[in-house]
Amino acid sequence: MLKGKVALVTGAGRGIGKQIALTLAGYGADVIVNYNGSKEKAEAVVAEIQEQGGKAKAVQFSVSDYESTNARITELIAEYGHIDILVNNAGITKDNLVMRMSEEDFNAVIDTNLKGTFHTIKILYRQFLKQKAGRIINLSSVTGLMGNGGQANYAASKAGVIGLTKTVARELASRNITANAVAPGYIDTDMTHAMTEDAKAATVGVIPLKRVGQAIDVAEAVAFLASEKASYITGQVLSVDGGMGM
Ligand code: NDP
Repeated sequence: MLKGKVALVTGAGRGIGKQIALTLAGYGADVIVNYNGSKEKAEAVVAEIQEQGGKAKAVQFSVSDYESTNARITELIAEYGHIDILVNNAGITKDNLVMRMSEEDFNAVIDTNLKGTFHTIKILYRQFLKQKAGRIINLSSVTGLMGNGGQANYAASKAGVIGLTKTVARELASRNITANAVAPGYIDTDMTHAMTEDAKAATVGVIPLKRVGQAIDVAEAVAFLASEKASYITGQVLSVDGGMGM
């Protein structure tokens, strides 16, 4: 389904990003596994892909740092000649009620989740134009659609990702480039392991499908949007949330 395509997945050393990298590689893509701090985990993802006969490489940069993101992606374009699929998965949380949320924690979440997404798109924009092809898939969240107490910074960043996605979709549509967002609900990863048992039980209680989602549920949606099968879909937000946000 993705043979001959090069995919860059940010934050792909663990969690949903790891599963996206494995899934895209399983469909034949050559995957660039970006990581920030998880070097060994990212290298393990590359090894797993290679063991299964796929192609992958780990590259370090923090998406919140424009200069190093620009330097690394520019090198990658020169090395691969083309990058066909960009998955903006890197994300963090720093939860607190607004009255207790520091400006530093608000900015940190915006810098990674929203500005990080802007950075990679900005850097790859000309390359996508040149190719007259490209797929941008940004990870939003049910929280970006509904809000969530204690997550003002995260909700603002993920709602921002939706506005950014729709704008880029409009800017690039005439060049055969699509941009879509995937909005996961409650997915079993390190990010949600930090929740208390009571909070987890309460969250599952409001999910119509009555279960926690798995990274593979999100990864298959991303792979679909990256594929030719989704060539007439742009500017959309695909919720993968067990019905939580409907
Ligand atoms: P995890 O906390 O499990 O993993 C976060 C990933 O983001 C890590 O790979 C981490 O890399 C990477 N990352 C963080 N900061 C940076 C940075 N500055 N530069 C590059 N990479 C970075 O999160 P999930 O896998 O759960 O979440 C993945 C995405 O899905 C996020 O955007 C999240 O907001 C979204 N999402 C998750 C939901 C869930 O229930 N889990 C629900 C809705 C949305 P490293 O370890 O190398 O630092």
